[in-house]
Amino acid sequence: MTKFVFVTGGVLSSLGKGVFTASAALLLQRMGYNTTAVKIDPYLNVDAGTMSPYAHGEVFVTDDGGETDLDIGHYERFLGKSLSKINNITAGQIYQIVIEKERRGDYLGQTVQIIPHVTNEIKNRLKEIARAQASDIVVVEIGGTVGDIEGLPFLEAARQMRLDLGFQNTLYIHVALTPYHRVVGEIKTKPLQHSVQELRRIGIQPDVIIVRSEQPIGRDIVEKISLYTNVQPEYIFNDYDLSTIYELPLILHSQGFSKRIAEKLNLEYREPQLDDWISFVNKIKNPERKIEVYMIGKYTKVRDSYVSIIEALRHASTEYRAEPVIRWIEATDIESGATKFEYKEKAGYIILPGFGRRGAEGKISVLKILREEGGIVLGICFGLQLMAVEIARNVLGLDKANSTELDPATPHPVVDLLEEQKKIDRLGGTMRLGLSKSILVKGTKVYEIYGSEIVFERHRHRYEINPRYIDSFEKIGFIVSGYNEKNYADFMELKDYRFYIGTQAHPELRSRPLTPSPLFLGFVREILRL
Ligand code: GLN
Repeated sequence: MTKFVFVTGGVLSSLGKGVFTASAALLLQRMGYNTTAVKIDPYLNVDAGTMSPYAHGEVFVTDDGGETDLDIGHYERFLGKSLSKINNITAGQIYQIVIEKERRGDYLGQTVQIIPHVTNEIKNRLKEIARAQASDIVVVEIGGTVGDIEGLPFLEAARQMRLDLGFQNTLYIHVALTPYHRVVGEIKTKPLQHSVQELRRIGIQPDVIIVRSEQPIGRDIVEKISLYTNVQPEYIFNDYDLSTIYELPLILHSQGFSKRIAEKLNLEYREPQLDDWISFVNKIKNPERKIEVYMIGKYTKVRDSYVSIIEALRHASTEYRAEPVIRWIEATDIESGATKFEYKEKAGYIILPGFGRRGAEGKISVLKILREEGGIVLGICFGLQLMAVEIARNVLGLDKANSTELDPATPHPVVDLLEEQKKIDRLGGTMRLGLSKSILVKGTKVYEIYGSEIVFERHRHRYEINPRYIDSFEKIGFIVSGYNEKNYADFMELKDYRFYIGTQAHPELRSRPLTPSPLFLGFVREILRL
């Protein structure tokens, strides 16, 4: 029988609950149990695709084209496997199903209610994931903080699961912050105590507590928390701030977490196999050199907007024992003239993905300088599209060339809607999404970097390089290095340049600590070559 581990959060959000969930799942997986992880987002959006990165951070795209919460990205990176869109449950999805069923007449004669109709749907979905992914263990992270109104049906479903499946098949882990009070020089546990009380009010007594703190906590704090929360000290673990998130599974394991969890779930304990993970963490913590990478985007104030790109850069750099020093360039500041762009020969540049007009001209003006200077540049999705716009204007001499996303009336639509997008009028979940095959062109840099003709990367876009302009681009050396089967330009590069590559794909989404993205590896290699 599948076992379910529920992870709740207290005191505040953005605690690193996602990284904790990923770490717990990793330890169970490395014990030899088939483990998957699920993120529950209690908001009413059906998926994360329609939310602004400012509010929600990056939208993580799965192989099967789900636009999911960024925590799914953490799970994939820690578990080293691809998850499905079904691993991200939102309240919107659950309510949509319940309402559809009601309209169909499935509940004929009944009053449709949160309990049992909504909670049943949540439980069904969790069981369906366990079945579809043949999981021994499903680790379920409930987003938000206990006490949030929207989260209640999900906590209620989690509570019922113990009733349905029994103590040995369910586990409740509560992650909460103990802030450090600088004036009195003390770690405060009261907010954590209150969040556990809130959880108990719903009927959940946590089995395990994860104390988030800035610094490691002492025995006195653990005992105090134990007394107030009714959790024995052996089941209280400390997740203090670390220099790298990838170290968390090792820290938890060193505190005895794996054994305790196995015991609570009545699982046979096997020592987790962590050798490759330990050597990765050692490498990341002991870099031999630094590289400088500039990120040009418009959500640079919210770093979570680009988390997969940052992580992909870290994976690739670590492979070469380098530490990436990331510098941000806010495209809207370039556009307004508030910042002046200064080119550095030794650095690498990433033109970040994005949507809409704001900041686009800023990126284009930076691209012009980078191309003229022969800089090391990687354009991701929107980044590729803007490379094409810049080259069209300044090399092909097509004045006012643009993407129709930015200027629908442009005389030279060098970037235009994908053919298949032209008849779509709904914006939710309708882009070109998910894993897609590209065929690389022999003799190109991209081909050399991937070392194979067929590659698979994930996509998320509505626009593409307009096929009508490809000949003109190729004539001046901006060549297509990879096509998809419908002849979309998935990769392009400037011939005879060190590294001026753009891709319509999001290679960062498939990068993992132990298997970094080839394109990011190539990018980092080029920076190190200087
Ligand atoms: N806005 C562009 C498009 O829809 C690029 C999207 C992206 O960068 N992910 O095609």
